[in-house]
Amino acid sequence: MTTDSTASPNTFAFKAEVQKVLSLVINSLYTNPEVFLRELVSNASDALDKARFLQLTAGDAVVRTEEEPAIRITLDEEHRSLTIEDNGVGMTRDEVIENLGTIARSGTSEFFAKFAEASKSGDKDRALELIGQFGVGFYAVFMVADRVDVDTRSIKVGSEAVLWRSSGDGEFTVAAGEREAPGTRITLHLKEDAAEFAEEWRVEHVIEKYSNFVMFPIHVGDKVANRSSALWRLPKSKVSEEQHVEFFKLVTNGSAGDAPLATIHWSVDAPVQFSALVYVPSKATMELFSSRQLPGLRLYARRVLIMESCDKLLPTYLRFLRGVVDSEDVQLNVSRETLQENRTIRQIEQQLTKQALKALEALAADEPEKYLAFWRQFGVILKEGVSTDFRNKDLLAKLYRFPSLRGSKDALLGLEDYVKAKPEAQRAIYYLTGNDLEQLKASPLLEAFRARELDVLLLTDPIDEWMVNGLRSFEGLELVSVAHGELDLDAVAKPKTPEPSPADDARTKAAVAAIERVLAERVVSVRASRRLTETASCLVSRQGDPSANLERLMKAFDEDKVEAKKRVLEVNPAHPIVESLGLLVERDPASPRIQLLGEMLYDQALLSEGVVEDPARLVRRIQDLLVESARNAAAAAEAPRG
Ligand code: ADP
Repeated sequence: MTTDSTASPNTFAFKAEVQKVLSLVINSLYTNPEVFLRELVSNASDALDKARFLQLTAGDAVVRTEEEPAIRITLDEEHRSLTIEDNGVGMTRDEVIENLGTIARSGTSEFFAKFAEASKSGDKDRALELIGQFGVGFYAVFMVADRVDVDTRSIKVGSEAVLWRSSGDGEFTVAAGEREAPGTRITLHLKEDAAEFAEEWRVEHVIEKYSNFVMFPIHVGDKVANRSSALWRLPKSKVSEEQHVEFFKLVTNGSAGDAPLATIHWSVDAPVQFSALVYVPSKATMELFSSRQLPGLRLYARRVLIMESCDKLLPTYLRFLRGVVDSEDVQLNVSRETLQENRTIRQIEQQLTKQALKALEALAADEPEKYLAFWRQFGVILKEGVSTDFRNKDLLAKLYRFPSLRGSKDALLGLEDYVKAKPEAQRAIYYLTGNDLEQLKASPLLEAFRARELDVLLLTDPIDEWMVNGLRSFEGLELVSVAHGELDLDAVAKPKTPEPSPADDARTKAAVAAIERVLAERVVSVRASRRLTETASCLVSRQGDPSANLERLMKAFDEDKVEAKKRVLEVNPAHPIVESLGLLVERDPASPRIQLLGEMLYDQALLSEGVVEDPARLVRRIQDLLVESARNAAAAAEAPRG
């Protein structure tokens, strides 16, 4: 036997996760209960967008109305109620049960985990951001209402009105509704302590705060409480700073800072017509740094919203940008599936990308401090671009900023400035990669540069390894790793600080040969270094091999597959250890100390990179050396008395 749904109300239990969301939302938002209204208005606005879209594309399958799309809020102080009504898509019975009884989106457990984290650290902005993102906004009504009635009728031809009702206590009922026309009317029976939301001034204030740029008029009583203008269609000069700030908050859900760092407001007619209003946020959200995060701009076709978050309007390395694109040339019926092949969308993407990069360039030139603030937040993401967007490589390269050997602690240097500052004879851009700036600055690989006052870019983001690979050169100068290959800087510049002159050449050769015998298994070869002025030894990669830093990064991802490439040990011929070793080889080629010193030169080269291969053996070797040195010192102290 089937029950007639229109006869008596059917009772349903909320899915367990809804209950959990309900209590989370209520507990975390109780300090700003007013957000319930933002959520309701946003749902109503979505419903109107969808209706407009369907009426343009779905033919006879939907009901047509001549009525202007609008949102109406009616207040009743006496009965303490607030009603919000829209003439949008409405919902069928099944949709009501699905949409207001479960959490449809996947990733509910992810939501709970993230939410718990945000709540624990007291990050309310983050909690709000998550609620918006995961689409659980409707349940915020139970912060202010002890009963909610949703009377809705779907725009689909032949649908009947449905009345959904709940007190937010674990159950809801569904019965026949009363609506004649498509749309949704939601009535909140307000709790005693939420009586203020039945007052006009209060509601108007909330609308102004959160929903000023909702595209449809919001009537409160007989007034329209919002501006409902398509800001991006206005001429640039007609939009005030405050309007931008407000609109920025709307498109970012308030999760990306209080105001944009930069604004790209732009309109073109050829080859495709579009208007764009795009913001560089002032704060990065955590999601941006996940590689799964895609760009998302709202896409309108002739002012009809066709996609809330379109990922094909920008390359992924610009995914931090937020805003709106509206085009006369985009068809209303584009779908996510066909976007990829859509020529118009591709053209918009290309133009928008170029424009965004130029806007960043202008920011860097006009407001360098602001630009650096941008770079510190989003630079890592922008660095992805040079390996993926060949067309804009040069433009991108100019936007990059890096710490450098000669720069002070927090200074960042652009490639153009690097090139300007270098001596004429220097025909390369030098860089060194690693994971820690202080450690890099102390690297023996930089000694010859320091002695010549030459600058080296110090790259510490993991992505830098891929970035330099994609970049390769800038203004005709090759990017050269100072941790690779043989290096001779004498043609570039003479040392500014005097370098110790190397000892007798034959002795150096003897030392190098002896060390090579000791380390035959571990290094490709040993050679006299032109890099070192103070330190006794360092390791360099062969030209074309991955850097040690890259190997370490890859290993962190995929432990077993990476086998470290052997490197070249360079020794400083002028260093007392190497000199003495040479002497020792001449005088006592069988001395066990040759082995010990050779291994120590290798160990200390690794140690300067922050790596210890076999700590126990290293400690034993250090002990042996210390014992010997202590004995020698004791013997020397004894000698004059004896
Ligand atoms: P979100 O809006 O983020 O998806 P909500 O919990 O606020 O999450 O709403 C759940 C769903 O209920 C919406 O996705 C929508 O399908 C439906 N819904 C809510 N309000 C309305 C409305 N006024 N008209 C039509 N459908 C609505």
